[in-house]
Amino acid sequence: MNPIKKYFYPIIILVIFEAVAVTLWLTKHNLFYLFNFSYIGLSISFGLFLFIKKNKHARRVVQLLVGLYMLVYLGLICRENMQIEGFWYYLFTGVFEAATIHYAVAKIFGPLLFGRGWCGYACWTAMVLDFLPYRVPAQPRKKLGWIRYVTFAASLILVTALFLAKVGHIERIMFRAFIVGNVAYYAVGVILAFAFKDNRAFCKYVCPITVFLKPMSYFSLLRIQCKKDKCIDCGKCKRVCPMDVDVTDNSRSRKNGTECILCMECVKSCPKDAL
Ligand code: SF4
Ligand code: SF4
Ligand code: SF4
Repeated sequence: MNPIKKYFYPIIILVIFEAVAVTLWLTKHNLFYLFNFSYIGLSISFGLFLFIKKNKHARRVVQLLVGLYMLVYLGLICRENMQIEGFWYYLFTGVFEAATIHYAVAKIFGPLLFGRGWCGYACWTAMVLDFLPYRVPAQPRKKLGWIRYVTFAASLILVTALFLAKVGHIERIMFRAFIVGNVAYYAVGVILAFAFKDNRAFCKYVCPITVFLKPMSYFSLLRIQCKKDKCIDCGKCKRVCPMDVDVTDNSRSRKNGTECILCMECVKSCPKDAL
C-alpha cells in the first residue's frame, strides 16, 4: 500500500496539531504553544503509527505520554489547573490561555473532529483507571448519569463564589484545587471501578467534563462505522466495548454513541473486519 495512504491518520493528526501549534505560537507570541501542541501531536501520531503496526499497547503508550505530561509537567511543575475549575477561572478572567485553550482544543471544539479521543488517549484520570482489572464492564450500565451535572454545577459554583467574594491569591487556591480535585477523582474513580466492576464507571457517571464532551462528540467527523455487508452479527464488538456503545448501529443516535472513546477494541475484535 502507498505509505501516504497507509499512514494517512498519523500524518493528518500531526499536520492539524502543528497548525494549532504554529498559529498559537505566532498569535500569542509564546514559544510554549509550539512546544506543547507539537509534543501532543507527535505523541498521538506515534500512537496511531503503533496502532497501524498492530502494537497492542499503542493506546496505552499515548495515554502515558500525554497524560503524564499534562499531569506532571503542566499541572504539578508549571502549576496550571487544567481541571474544569481552571477552565472556569481563566474564562472568568477573560484570558484565552492554558486551561481555556486546552478545553477549546480537546474538549469543546476538537470533539467535533475527533469525538472523545481525549478520553481514550490523553486523559490522566483514565490513564490510571485503565490499569484496573475491569476493562470490560462486568455489570449492566446504571442510571446514574445525572451525577455529572451535579459535579459540573459544583465546579462552576465554587469558582463563581471565589470571584464574587473577591478572594485573594486565587491562583494559589486554583493550584490547591487541582491537587485536591485530582486526588478526589482518583479515589472516587477507583472506588466506583471496584464497586461497579467497571474501570470507566467514573467516566460514565461522575466526570463533569462529559457535559461538554457528549453533545459535541455527537457531531464528530471521526467515528467507528459498521460495514453492514460484512457484519455477521456475532456481537463480539459490543462485548469488548468499555463504554457500552451499540457500534453496529451507524446512526448518530445509536445507544451510548456519545460515549465512544475511540479505543478501537471493537475494531480489533471483529472477526470480519467490518468496523
Ligand atoms: S470522561 Fe472524564 S475522566 Fe473519563 S476519560 Fe473523559 S475526561 Fe477523563
Ligand atoms: S470499543 Fe469501539 S465503540 Fe466501544 S468505545 Fe472503543 S472504539 Fe468506541
Ligand atoms: S464483531 Fe464485527 S462481525 Fe461481529 S457484530 Fe461486530 S461488526 Fe459485526
